[in-house]
Amino acid sequence: MIAYDDNEDVMKRKMKAGSFNAMDLDKLLMQGLTRMQYKIPTPVQRKTLPMALAGMDAVCMARTGSGKTAAFLIPMFQRFPTHDSTAGIRGIVLSPTRELAVQTFRFAKDMSKFTDLRVVSIIGGDPLEPQFEALSNRPDMLIATPGRLMHHLSEISTFTLKSVKYLVFDEADRLFEMGFAEQLNSIIKQCPDDRQTLL
Ligand code: AMP
Repeated sequence: MIAYDDNEDVMKRKMKAGSFNAMDLDKLLMQGLTRMQYKIPTPVQRKTLPMALAGMDAVCMARTGSGKTAAFLIPMFQRFPTHDSTAGIRGIVLSPTRELAVQTFRFAKDMSKFTDLRVVSIIGGDPLEPQFEALSNRPDMLIATPGRLMHHLSEISTFTLKSVKYLVFDEADRLFEMGFAEQLNSIIKQCPDDRQTLL
């Protein structure tokens, strides 16, 4: 929240300090945000982004509609701004429900629209075949539901999570409440210990 100030210069400086421009984000990511009409970070983004952009782990509680999706997607795209055909999967967002995963995938596609990143959805209830194909096409990031991700991990012998550097548990309380604990623990074990984790 920016307080009213009579002095226009002071106002402008405050706006800039709390804006996406001041975060020195990747140019193509900024283009995506501008196209989505994101100008000023929401309160949860203002609190979380500096930590997450600095590579720290973060736990955040925020209401639906607060802008939390961008709070974890922006640092992922900032950290890995371009496609890398040799690096493997670097970012994973896990969602408790198909609906949430579909929505997060749409945001992720919009945000990365001007980049060459390959963001793939691995969502339960969707057909398997296109997912197998997408996974074989050197994706950079996955938006996934835990059960379907585990399915692919057990089916594709060459598919590993050893390259993951950024792991998000969206609505972590629901994820763990919904009986995914076994799958989540297995996914966590397959990721490197030094990854960045956001809940
Ligand atoms: P979420 O809480 O992540 O579901 O986001 C709620 C809505 O706010 C979505 O429609 C987002 O596109 C939108 N939104 C998120 N961050 C911003 C922002 N900084 N400026 C404008 N809209 C935003």
